[in-house]
Amino acid sequence: MEQTIESVSTVEALLQKRPLIISGPCSAETEEQVVSTATRLAATGKVDILRAGIWKPRTRPGSFEGIGTKGLPWLQAAKKASGLPVAVEVATAKQVEDALHFGVDVLWIGARTTVNPFSVQDVADALRGVDVPVLIKNPINPDLELWIGAMERVQKAGIKNVGLIHRGFSSYGNTEYRNAPMWHLAIEMKRRYPGVMMINDPSHICGNRTNLQDVAQTAIDLDFDGLIIESHIDPDNAWSDAKQQITPERLGELVGSIRWRNEDVASEEYHAALEKLRQQINNLDDELMQILSQRMKVAEKIGQYKKDNNITILQTNRWNSILERAFAKGEKQGLSKEFVTKYFDAVHMESINHQNKIMNS
Ligand code: PEP
Ligand code: MN
Repeated sequence: MEQTIESVSTVEALLQKRPLIISGPCSAETEEQVVSTATRLAATGKVDILRAGIWKPRTRPGSFEGIGTKGLPWLQAAKKASGLPVAVEVATAKQVEDALHFGVDVLWIGARTTVNPFSVQDVADALRGVDVPVLIKNPINPDLELWIGAMERVQKAGIKNVGLIHRGFSSYGNTEYRNAPMWHLAIEMKRRYPGVMMINDPSHICGNRTNLQDVAQTAIDLDFDGLIIESHIDPDNAWSDAKQQITPERLGELVGSIRWRNEDVASEEYHAALEKLRQQINNLDDELMQILSQRMKVAEKIGQYKKDNNITILQTNRWNSILERAFAKGEKQGLSKEFVTKYFDAVHMESINHQNKIMNS
């Protein structure tokens, strides 16, 4: 089935819906599984688009690498049975061709592809002259330029409807998350490209079922445009990403219990109160900057003494005692250890730079 103009424009309209909810299995496994996931998702009334991986970029060879092109007609069947448009991950020109040939409505570029400009360009070239929405996942490493680069390549190929998916960033070792959300990076993308839809992927951020709801709620509180969450009729026995998938009914409950927020309200009272508080924040920020600047001037004086006495800038003992004091005080003031560490690291680095200038002047 070739994509018709009509089917594209309906999907375009659907993509305007907020919040936009995409769900479905990590991987298409059998026709029965795809069709029944789709119909059960549609029955919840909470889902707008069905997702299913056909080609799976697995980290290590040997695990299930996707059912391949033969799964595409299953998606057509699922769409017919459920009425949900379908989205698929593509990583090569051939996959784009096959997906479009079988009438896939939305394409997405996975995190392992976004990191590679050659692959993204290959996909982008295959998209020339095609009118299909494309969602671009963040690269696995925390590099905004790569994410932006992928978006630009796809846009330059003439794709008008481009969206972003925030799926977290990989890091070494065990952490609370499979992929650390690093929310500030997604927020920075939203700031730079306010017109581009940003969807959150709690499944690949969490890597388990436990934290899905919290991550989804955080994304909605941060004014994300929607969610993509993996679901499976038999999550424990899924052929990929079993630990993070949930049943279609659980997905319905999860979406149903999210507290939706308004970006704005018309109330004058609310705006006046908010304006007052924002002014307070501005004043406090100004004071903080002044105090920080004073702190740097003191650091420069210390630098001068160290220079006169030919002493190293960094003194580990002193630095440890500053941190210990800060942790103890911070805890009493309700500041997290993580924040105190980041803040003092930044302040310390700036102090060292100021002292360096003095020492070497
Ligand atoms: C997926 O969506 O199933 C997937 C492989 O995700 P990511 O590219 O975010 O790892
Ligand atoms: Mn997955």
